[in-house]
Amino acid sequence: MGLLNVFGDWIEKRNVRRVEICKSQGMCPECQGKGFNMLGTEVYMLNSSYYHCAGCNGSGTYFDWVENT
Ligand SMILES: [Zn+2]
Repeated sequence: MGLLNVFGDWIEKRNVRRVEICKSQGMCPECQGKGFNMLGTEVYMLNSSYYHCAGCNGSGTYFDWVENT
């Protein structure tokens, strides 16, 4: 019991909802269907690079994300 538990619970609920939304649209919850994730803005400006989404293997689909998780 405590603030930390409440906060963890909130994060959990938020994640579940996010996953549900992505599921309904068939896109990977980690990269929102893009197939890649952007690093922080600073890094992006320095490298102009993205990193391949490990959750969906770069396909951006919910199906692949489920398979990988
Ligand atoms: Zn992804």
